[in-house]
Parts: sequence; C-alpha cells; structure tokens
Amino acid sequence: MKEFLKTLGLTEDNDGSSTGQQGMHNPDQHLESHSPVDGALIGRVSVTTPEQYAQIVGAATAAFADWRMVPAPQRGEIVRQYGQALRENKDALGRLVSYEMGKSLQEGWGEVQEMIDICDFAVGLSRQLYGFTMHSERVLHRMYEQYHPLGIVGIISAFNFPVAVWSWNAMLALVCGDVVIWKPSEKAPLCGVACQKIWAQVAANNKLSEGICSLINGDYTVGELMTKDGRVPLVSATGSTRMGKIVAQTVAGRLGKTLLELGGNNAIIITPSADMDLVLTGALFGAVGTCGQRCTSTRRLIIHESRYEEVRDKLAAAYGQLSIGDPLDEGNHVGPLIDTDSVNTYLKAIEGIKAEGGTMVVDGGRIDGLGSDCYVKPCIAEVATDSAMAQQETFAPILYLMKYSTLEEAIAIQNSVPQGLSSAIMTTNMRESERFLSAMGSDCGIANVNIGTSGAEIGGAFGGEKETGGGRESGSDSWKAYMRRQTNTINYSTELPLAQGITFDL
Ligand code: NAD
Repeated sequence: MKEFLKTLGLTEDNDGSSTGQQGMHNPDQHLESHSPVDGALIGRVSVTTPEQYAQIVGAATAAFADWRMVPAPQRGEIVRQYGQALRENKDALGRLVSYEMGKSLQEGWGEVQEMIDICDFAVGLSRQLYGFTMHSERVLHRMYEQYHPLGIVGIISAFNFPVAVWSWNAMLALVCGDVVIWKPSEKAPLCGVACQKIWAQVAANNKLSEGICSLINGDYTVGELMTKDGRVPLVSATGSTRMGKIVAQTVAGRLGKTLLELGGNNAIIITPSADMDLVLTGALFGAVGTCGQRCTSTRRLIIHESRYEEVRDKLAAAYGQLSIGDPLDEGNHVGPLIDTDSVNTYLKAIEGIKAEGGTMVVDGGRIDGLGSDCYVKPCIAEVATDSAMAQQETFAPILYLMKYSTLEEAIAIQNSVPQGLSSAIMTTNMRESERFLSAMGSDCGIANVNIGTSGAEIGGAFGGEKETGGGRESGSDSWKAYMRRQTNTINYSTELPLAQGITFDL
C-alpha cells in the first residue's frame, strides 16, 4: 500500500458512511476506486444504506440543535483547526487527489491549498456575518436584519475537484452554523473518506457532537436520498448540467433551496492587441490542465482574423512540447482522463467534429502503453462559429478555434452557448476590455482580462449563469446562500402605530 494512503488512515476496505467520529460499514455493497494513473485498485468504500442515511440525518439534526448556538467565532476556531490539520496532511492528500483523480501532483497540492485558503477565509468570515440596519418609518421603532443558520446542508460533488468543492461549501456552512452531509463523486470516493478522517480527528480533539460533518457514499441513488429529503433545506450540487436539472426539479418539488455549480463552455477572445505570451500561457494551461476536466477549462478560442494563423501555429507548436504521462511525475504536464467512459466520449466528439467539417490542427486519440487505458492526446480543431460540437461541454482536452472580425461578433459567439461559467479577453486596448466587462459584454459569472478562463481565487464568488446553474460559492457574500435572512422590527414606544399610517380604532 502506498505511503500517502497509510498517512491518511486509508485501508483496503473503508467505511463510506460516518457521522463524524463514528464510521459505519455496509458489508454488502462497495464502490471500488481504481486509479486512472495505473489502473490499480486503490481501495474499496462501503455504500451508504437507507438505514445508515436515516441514522446520519438523525445525528445531523441533533447536532444542529447545539451547533447553531455556538457563537460564530467559536465555530470559526474549529474551522481554523481543520485548516491546520489540512496543512499537516497537504502532501499526502494532494498525492491522493492526483492518484485517484488523475490531475498533476502540482494541481493536487493546489487543490488542497484551496481548501486551506477557504478555511482561512471562513475563519475571518465567522466574525463578519453582517446584516443591515434600517430606519423604521415609525417613531421609537428600530429595524434590522440578521442571518440565521439553515440546518442541514447537503453537498453533492463532482469527481474533478474531489476535495476542494466540498470545502468551499462545508467551511462556509460550518461557520454559518449549519451542519453538513457530503456525498462525494462515486468516481473519487477515497478523497471523501480521507477528508472525513481529518475532520474526525478535529472533532474528537474538541469533543464535538456527532453529526456536524457527515459523509455518505454511493451513486446518484444515494444523492437522491438527500435531494428528496425535506429535512435538508439546502442542496449544493456540483456536476453536469444533466444532473443539475434533475436535482433542481427534485428539490424544487419540495420547495427546498439549491445551489448549483454545473457545466461550463469557456472561451477566450483574442483581440488584435493581445499580448501573445499571455495568450499562449493562458490558453495552453486552460485547455490541457487537469486534462481538460475543469469546469473552467478553456474550450473555445475566438481569435481575431489578423492574429488567427499566428495563434494557431504557435499553439500547435506548444502542444508538440507537452509531456503526457503519470501525473505524479512532476516532469509531466498532462495526466489521464478519469475513466474509459470519458475516453470514449472524447473519441466520439472528435468523430463529431470531423463529421461536421471541422479540421484537426493537432489530432487527438488514445495513447497506449502509459499505465492505463485513460490517456489521450490533447487536440485542437478549427471549426465554424456555428459548430454544434462547440456548443457542448465535452469534458476532455479538445480546444476549438474560431475566427472573428468585429468585437461585437466575438462577444456574440462567446455568449451563444447554453453555458455561462467563465470567459476571458486578451487585449491591451482599454475600450475593448471595458466593453467585454460591460452589460453588453460577457454573460458569464466569471469574466477575466488578460488571464485565462481556468481556475479562480477563493476570494471572489464562484459560479455561472444559464445552464451553469446560477449558484455562487466561495468568496464575496456567497455565505448568504447558507443562511436564512430574518427582518426584525422592535417597538420601544408605549404605542402600537401600524405601518403605512393605517388606523384600527377599537
Ligand atoms: P456528474 O453530474 O456525473 O456527477 C456529479 C455528482 O452528482 C456525483 O456525486 C453524482 O453521484 C451526483 N448525481 C448525479 N445524478 C444525481 C441525481 N439525479 N441526484 C443526486 N445526485 C446525483 O458530474 P461529474 O462527471 O462528476 O463532473 C463533471 C461535471 O461537473 C462537468 O460538467 C463539470 O463542468 C461540472 N463541474 C462544475 C463545477 C462548477 O463549479 N460549475 C465544478 C466542478 C465540476
């Protein structure tokens, strides 16, 4: 067994359900986690039964009764300790992310660093859960609003950020006074178990009640236990648009709240004045980083006709320099896709591009002999601006090149897809960048100037419009999604004046 697995307390068989300190095993059903890096079985994780889920919700409900009354800065202190525990486990957890998901080791460590950063952010936030005060229209009255915790927050996460997305949600929810139940992706379940074990240690050190942070595991049917459960007032779900539409309808059916972080189809507009060094770095990392499996991956380059050949040829040359292989070897730039289903989706997309008349500038295909059947070549295709393939998010390293002549046209192409997550413009012309950022510019939740579409700092609100789902997580005032707002009016007079001057004489 690999050393980093032992460091994280993982074994061949792991409890997939936990209320905090207490693990629960299901002897009958397991998820098997195979590494896309070398195909090896990393370990098994037991699937949560409906009975275990009932126990977990019971523990969470009981824990909430106490946790909501712990002063927010004291909740922040627990999150601070979790951040410290993550610092101590950063190397091992980063290696697990890389080995179980397939992203480069640098990106695996980077993901754990994001968790640490959101802990720091949440600690500060725990003293800043501010509401407004308002002036009452009535004499000797005072009005203000305050935020209270919601209750149980259900977190459903995708495979591509197997630890960070949970922490973006959980750390904010915890300082807000909520309790959380997490269902990680069935494609990376050991990452969830590892995070839960680190939590269990912090919880035990502080003698916290069971149920503040719980884990459940399994496929979508286990996720449905939460989406259908009226005791879970907020479901935060990260994943495909297909999943988001189902989750949104199920939770709306019981008038619960959702926070949805779904697919992206992100573009960079490259203008005549663009700085080519920035273009190449931004586009290359955006398109091939995490093997094209980031929600913010760059999928489309919308290039001004005067720079088109230059960008195409330089990028094609840069693709020729990429080294693809074991992501734990820091000499490699690109690791594998998550599984062979993803490889097949990628191969089908390339067929689709060719069938609709697209031209491969850098051809794709499976790469054999690299340790598993999940390695593919990052590729580049020239397509028409109305390409049907380029409307879809194929979760793989396929980059589409398109030509434009006016900025209005470029923005229209950028906005023409159903998704609205991340976007960027490469320009040194202030009029162009301001137009791109204005109300007539990008329609995405994230719009950048002179950096790529990929990745984001935790300080800003993260999320997107249209089929990306409309949710916002992480920084800025995203915390408000995890709380309920209450308006309070206090009368300290001896009269009871009615609002709007209404009189009601008895
Ligand atoms: P997926 O939709 O297949 O699965 C995501 C999670 O949803 C898994 O835990 C899965 O078990 C669960 N799930 C699926 N159907 C469900 C249902 N009906 N009820 C309850 N739970 C259900 O996505 P994936 O392949 O793991 O991840 C890739 C997708 O995630 C891409 O589209 C990517 O863009 C998106 N993503 C978005 C963001 C963002 O912040 N916008 C971040 C990461 C990934």
